[in-house]
Amino acid sequence: MAKAQHRTPEYRAAYQQLRRAQAAGQWLVCVESECKRSSRDISPLDRASISHDQTGTVILGPSHLGCNLSEAASRGNRMRAARVRRLVL
Ligand SMILES: [Zn+2]
Repeated sequence: MAKAQHRTPEYRAAYQQLRRAQAAGQWLVCVESECKRSSRDISPLDRASISHDQTGTVILGPSHLGCNLSEAASRGNRMRAARVRRLVL
């Protein structure tokens, strides 16, 4: 099941816009602060996704799928680490 942040009309609209742009052969630019690729260019053939800000509520724009997943994973790790620290202290 998709996360709540992926069920909003804004996210769906942004995602459809991304798919349409790629289908039309347009190149996009990865918005992640730490792009994992050698170039921020997103080709029409790259697997792309829509990135949110750190709160997960504001849509930033298109990103490489790998960059987005990497950012989400490190954000999750930070949140889990903070929770563990609270439990330990
Ligand atoms: Zn990227």
